[in-house]
Amino acid sequence: MRRLGVHISIAGGIEKSIPRALELGCTTMQFFSHNPRGWAVSGRGKDECATFRKLRKEHDLTPVFIHTSYLINLASPDRRLIEKSAQMVVEELNIADSLGVEYVVLHTGSASGDDPGDARNRAIDCLTGIAGKGRWKAGLLLENTAGERGDITSRIAEVAEIIDNVPEGLISGVCVDTCHAFAAGYDLKTAAGRGTLTDEIDRYLGRAQLKLIHLNDAKGDAGSGLDRHEHIGEGKLGIKAIKAIVTDPFFEDIPLVLETPKKSDDDDIRNLERVRKLAK
Ligand SMILES: [Zn+2]
Ligand SMILES: [Zn+2]
Repeated sequence: MRRLGVHISIAGGIEKSIPRALELGCTTMQFFSHNPRGWAVSGRGKDECATFRKLRKEHDLTPVFIHTSYLINLASPDRRLIEKSAQMVVEELNIADSLGVEYVVLHTGSASGDDPGDARNRAIDCLTGIAGKGRWKAGLLLENTAGERGDITSRIAEVAEIIDNVPEGLISGVCVDTCHAFAAGYDLKTAAGRGTLTDEIDRYLGRAQLKLIHLNDAKGDAGSGLDRHEHIGEGKLGIKAIKAIVTDPFFEDIPLVLETPKKSDDDDIRNLERVRKLAK
């Protein structure tokens, strides 16, 4: 069964995410374990974790993904920011293990005006340091980014360069975001553009490293560098391209998580319904 879900709110407690996901008919899900635009992280309570584990097992919601904070930058020229970011990644992995969550999704960082190659090396050093700090059941997934200024992971080869140079055990693979790939210049509207993406995943990473697709339409054009998600079929990517992605044998059985705009649950219901129809 193809796993399909959305990014879910944890308002009121992490365990509250599960009935929300089930209400929408999700079979997988993602959430933020805390405010993604703040540095404050607290461990989750024992009861909350136990309830979460029990409920998701009962309802076969799997795999589950935590998306890390947008403030994290493991490639910054600012040492203090790198240290704070590394600490936050460790805390997210700890939270994932206490909840039994399989994967922690990470935007590695930005060069912030510095040389991208040097920035990638800083990210590699930082991740190597994290790998030396402990062992977690949960694995990190590096996500491709949209090619905004200073991005160091918008090309698949760049993501692979980081993974290849970090000791094994910490990183479980990658999450490919369709909006980001499109914005970064993989023209997923065309068969050639989709072929470039799948070929590069195959060549630089190997398909087995692809653990998640963030299925999002895009507000910006191919190559725009714009990280703005749009409702399924209502953006520049469009319904035909999304159907081609969802039905591509290369992506068969890879879990799909939508991060489409959400004013109310109706938005999720509508986007999920569109994807279910396309997948048939
Ligand atoms: Zn992301
Ligand atoms: Zn994403």
